[in-house]
Amino acid sequence: MIDYESARKIMVQNQIIARGVRDKHVISAMESVPRHLFVEESLQDEAYDDNPLPIGEGQTISQPFMVAIMTELLDLKDTDRVLEIGTGSGYQAAVLSRLCAWVYSVERVPALAERAKKTLVTCGYDNLSFKIGDGSQGWPEEAPFDGIIVTAGSPRIPGVLVDQLAEDGKLVIPVGNRFSQTLKRVTKERNGNKVQSFTGCRFVDLIGEHGWSDSDRYW
Ligand code: SAM
Repeated sequence: MIDYESARKIMVQNQIIARGVRDKHVISAMESVPRHLFVEESLQDEAYDDNPLPIGEGQTISQPFMVAIMTELLDLKDTDRVLEIGTGSGYQAAVLSRLCAWVYSVERVPALAERAKKTLVTCGYDNLSFKIGDGSQGWPEEAPFDGIIVTAGSPRIPGVLVDQLAEDGKLVIPVGNRFSQTLKRVTKERNGNKVQSFTGCRFVDLIGEHGWSDSDRYW
């Protein structure tokens, strides 16, 4: 068994800081959240490696750098309310919960949502709400959000999510085809929306009304 705390420090130094993440709050969140507890026991020694890992149901926990850069792009304040689409393992939600007032997280696969909730509660994170369903439709009852993060690849920027942003709110989302995407950020401004493009990436599909349809997955 490896020393997880040391592995985490090395991960933050070599994968996060060395690649240009500068926000000290994001760095300290990445230093504090025990990523190994969000993967199954047989994969815990790989939890601080520089790649995504399987979490069951054909899904993954994202690469640590991708979690850090997407979180940095949200530019969060501690009073913010954030919507995450794609709870997965719960790891990204845990990182967000260290940086804002409340996290709303939606997952379409019930077994993953239940396990993530259990992990987050066991770790003592208590500023989160969960929902099982199609997050491509957002969470209109709780809108507007200061930040929305989509942790699955989408064929487009869903307008319904932009509609659920507060003024100056930011949506961070991988957009592209099913094999490669570009990380995009939409900032909702008084006089329109600003769209910026960042790094290339590869995520599992966002499946739902405003993402890919289930049948698209098998062509
Ligand atoms: N954020 C996760 C973490 O920290 O482990 C990683 C998410 S994984 C890359 C993408 C997740 O998005 C999967 O768990 C998948 O089931 C979920 N997903 C895909 N389409 C979705 C949708 N329309 N609504 C909610 N969740 C969705």
